Amino acid sequence: MKKEPIKVREVSAATRTGNFQEVVLGYSEDEALGEASRCLQCKNPVCISGCPVGIDIKKFIYQITQKDYPAAYFTIREKNNFPLICGRVCPAEYQCRKTCVLTKKDAPFASEGAINIHFLERFVGDYGKNNDLAVSQEKEEKFSKFKVAVVGSGPAGLCCAGELARKGIKVDIFESLHKTGGVLRYGIPPFRLPWDVLDFEINYLKKLGVNFITNFLVGKAKTIKELFNEGYSNVFLGLGAGVPSFLGIKGENLCNIYSVNEFLVRVNLMSAYKFPEFHTPVNIGKNVLIVGGGNTAMDAARVALRLQKLKGYPLNTTIIYRRTEMEMPARRLEIEHAKEEGIKFEFLVSPKEFIGDEQGFVRKLICLRAQLGEPDSSGRRRPVVIEGSEFEMDCDLSVIAVGLKANQILINATPELKTDKYSDVIVDAATMESSIKGVFAGGDIVGGEGTVIEAMGMAKTAAQSIIGELSKK
Ligand SMILES: Cc1cc2nc3c(=O)[nH]c(=O)nc-3n(C[C@H](O)[C@H](O)[C@H](O)COP(=O)(O)OP(=O)(O)OC[C@H]3O[C@@H](n4cnc5c(N)ncnc54)[C@H](O)[C@@H]3O)c2cc1C
Ligand code: SF4
Repeated sequence: MKKEPIKVREVSAATRTGNFQEVVLGYSEDEALGEASRCLQCKNPVCISGCPVGIDIKKFIYQITQKDYPAAYFTIREKNNFPLICGRVCPAEYQCRKTCVLTKKDAPFASEGAINIHFLERFVGDYGKNNDLAVSQEKEEKFSKFKVAVVGSGPAGLCCAGELARKGIKVDIFESLHKTGGVLRYGIPPFRLPWDVLDFEINYLKKLGVNFITNFLVGKAKTIKELFNEGYSNVFLGLGAGVPSFLGIKGENLCNIYSVNEFLVRVNLMSAYKFPEFHTPVNIGKNVLIVGGGNTAMDAARVALRLQKLKGYPLNTTIIYRRTEMEMPARRLEIEHAKEEGIKFEFLVSPKEFIGDEQGFVRKLICLRAQLGEPDSSGRRRPVVIEGSEFEMDCDLSVIAVGLKANQILINATPELKTDKYSDVIVDAATMESSIKGVFAGGDIVGGEGTVIEAMGMAKTAAQSIIGELSKK
């Protein structure tokens, strides 16, 4: 008889919305064994082709069934430096789970029925953390004379640094913010990725000898050329996509309209939810409208709802999205969690104009209804507004979460670095080398907003190219 997928344990919506603690509790040993036993151990394990870093999924699941958790941990670590992180944030339903043979072909949403590979990965990652499993170091003497500069401490920079440091190459990571982790720290809220988990993975790199230099903006404090002059043999750019996009509609500059970056940075990085214990405040409203349909929108909405609860306001946070739920790019789990927590959704709605009061604070959003037309360049059906369908929504706080773009500072300071029309760095996809010899790039600065594991996949390729280059010297 076919076994049903084992649900993961979670904190109830009523409890979790009152704090910023982790929502998903993960599998117990019995649950992990039950889920692993569903795996068919396919002759042709197509799940592996869906993983951007090629984890041997079949093998680590088999090792779980044998209760050999350390072996499962090292199998994952062979390909993925950060199982604790990926087990929590990977959009597995669009990656390994999508290709799993158990995925129901006619289910409305992606990956229903597939093995919960991400929860198994997390189980194994947590086991490694709780048992402080030592990671083998393949340091080679011949690499110890080289040092590489990594710019940016998001998943791309961290992954590249880990790969290089494991070989014995000295790595300095330069990070413009005062804390490391990139979006993993300032974007993804702790109720999805707790800081102790992120710190565990970062400490693992420190143990490998990676050196972190924070408050250091490459492009201003030092140019790439100056880094080479200081003896770095290579530079890796993991700059991310940190600049928010806006709607470009009337009234968007009214008070209490935040970009998603500012809103999440204030809350996550600066702990604004603990104001005045922490210095940075954040405003919160009684009628909160979040515009967008990706992970950033989902995170902003769930943060806003928690802030409303902490303030004692009625819970009234609405996500406005111009397509339907089917086209939402956010992880399914986050959409489900948002719904359970009481976040409302307005689909096929396009914002037209914000209206403010005499003091310049936002009070209303005028919207238009939309319907789906022909597919656009992204392959998703384009929303077409319905003329005359205008309606108003009360709004005293709005967060715009409609996309992120490349930060130009380092790019502008480096004219010889070739970029495309979106200001993303152009690389040779096989090596991840940029137009400047010895300078590699990966993550969201190449090809725009992606996922954590995609950023890591690119960084791994870049690290392998750097290692290949250095091994010839
Ligand atoms: C709110 C939010 C939620 C998300 N949720 C998910 C999710 O659930 N699952 C998923 O897979 N993906 C998610 N993503 C996408 C994912 O986080 C990104 O694809 C990933 O972080 C990209 O990694 P990166 O290393 O390229 O960039 P980043 O994580 O953006 O890191 C770049 C780092 O470089 C630093 N930097 C930039 N320029 C300089 C400079 N000149 N000098 C020094 N430092 C510099 C920045 O300060 C930053 O710390 C989410 C993104 C956001 C914004
Ligand atoms: S495709 Fe699915 S069932 Fe087959 S080995 Fe991979 S996880 Fe197991």
